[in-house]
Amino acid sequence: MIPGYPDRYRRPSRTECSVGKPRRMKISKSKFVAGVQCLKRLYLQVHEPELTEQSDGADETPFEQGHEVGLLARELFPGGIEVDSSVGLSQAIRATKELVANPEVPAIFEGAFESHDVIVKTDILQRRKDNLWRLVEVKSTADLKEHHLEDVAIQSYVLSHSALNLASVWLAHVNRAYVLTGTTVDPRQFFLLRNLTRRVQNLQPALTFQLRSQFRVLAMPTAPDLPTGPHCTNPVTCEFFDHCNHPKSDDHIGFLPRLHASAAEQLEEMGVESVHDIPADFELSEIQRRACDTMQTGQPWFSTDLKGEFESLKYPLCFMDFETINPAIPRFPGMHPYDHLPFQWSVHLQAQPGVAPEHFEFLAMDGGDPRLAFISSLCEALNEHGNIVVYNEQFESQRLWELAGWLPEYTQRIRDIQCRLWDLLPVVRKHVYHPAFGGSFSLKAVLPALVPEMTYEGMEVPNGQAAGLAWQAMIAENSSAAERQAKRKALLDYCEQDTLAMVRLLEALQNAAPPKP
Ligand code: SF4
Repeated sequence: MIPGYPDRYRRPSRTECSVGKPRRMKISKSKFVAGVQCLKRLYLQVHEPELTEQSDGADETPFEQGHEVGLLARELFPGGIEVDSSVGLSQAIRATKELVANPEVPAIFEGAFESHDVIVKTDILQRRKDNLWRLVEVKSTADLKEHHLEDVAIQSYVLSHSALNLASVWLAHVNRAYVLTGTTVDPRQFFLLRNLTRRVQNLQPALTFQLRSQFRVLAMPTAPDLPTGPHCTNPVTCEFFDHCNHPKSDDHIGFLPRLHASAAEQLEEMGVESVHDIPADFELSEIQRRACDTMQTGQPWFSTDLKGEFESLKYPLCFMDFETINPAIPRFPGMHPYDHLPFQWSVHLQAQPGVAPEHFEFLAMDGGDPRLAFISSLCEALNEHGNIVVYNEQFESQRLWELAGWLPEYTQRIRDIQCRLWDLLPVVRKHVYHPAFGGSFSLKAVLPALVPEMTYEGMEVPNGQAAGLAWQAMIAENSSAAERQAKRKALLDYCEQDTLAMVRLLEALQNAAPPKP
């Protein structure tokens, strides 16, 4: 072992990897699911995990949500006992066996099983009559996804080979139609249960074959040479994406906006990787053709109709942006699972063109219901006249509509706000393309291309997802005063930047717009 190098990074010797040798490798449930997505992913996870991308924390949200939802599901099985996994796998397997053997235990959480070198931990096992068991896998998604079936099938495989009488296999997922009425979530209403027994049984022959392939690949001396493709992002984005997919050159066809996978495949089959080599008669959308032209010339394009778009703008202008979180478990009355909870807004008010804008802001500072304070302070800041400029109206408008549903006394004022919205995104999409957009019209892509002096680089909160995480960290009970202060500043800086970016972007577009013909 290399000194100082964690043991889990150690590549197993050939002896350990070889099929049939005493120390054959073991596959866990998550490794099996990774291997179903791509055998190379499985191999790299086991033998070369150091090649993975460093997490930027953005994937913490689904993990946290999954954990919270899992804990809530346990309330459906009172008296259930959790197996302590901190004691090590063998001990956890032993403890699970004891609980299975004890007829007084109605349900087991996190039970550990091993069979045929496959290890699984089950979310919930419920004891039924006649020593039969029901397996319940809990997912924080709002529906059944195809890859959930493999997840449940591998558990069913191991349990069936562990002398456990498995009667049925179920999935508990979030019921999107559930509405929180009081202060506590009712797990019987929050979850929808689906019986997957038949579907999982049908998967067993294929699963045996998949397992054989996985063990064979793990025993290889090097990673299998597999091509990249749509499987690198489906059902999840592979953590080795950057390792396998080399950075694209600036003129790569992948930077054309919304290029359909079939069109990309067609071009690749023709040997075309650069936009410079796309045949003139190849079918592209209007926007893709425009992007292709600007990438070929290196020059941005502004339509001669761009100027006309600004004629409808009515000053004073308010540039507005919201930050939200959308938790799986609703936090306040009237909310559904995954509803957006707005916690912050920023508004820049510009009285006249070219005049320095005034800034207003709101940030909820604790874990109490922020909705009333959010909308009442926003109504005050927005004035009564002039357009409200947003980037992607659908998002803000939908949030306003939800606020009207929760706080009907604001309905009329919210309608007035919605009537004043003026969306910058379709204007950019229709009238502008810059080679540096890289195929995206998001504010984060458009801003550095058209207003290079403004950047999100180096900001502690650089995007909306990070803002949600920072807010939750700020309001957490265990956060210190210094942490709260630091998060507060980072959040205020970020949201202010978003609305100031719109001010500067509008100015840049007005300056760049060619005269009308
Ligand atoms: S990036 Fe693609 S090819 Fe590489 S390991 Fe992941 S899924 Fe497999």
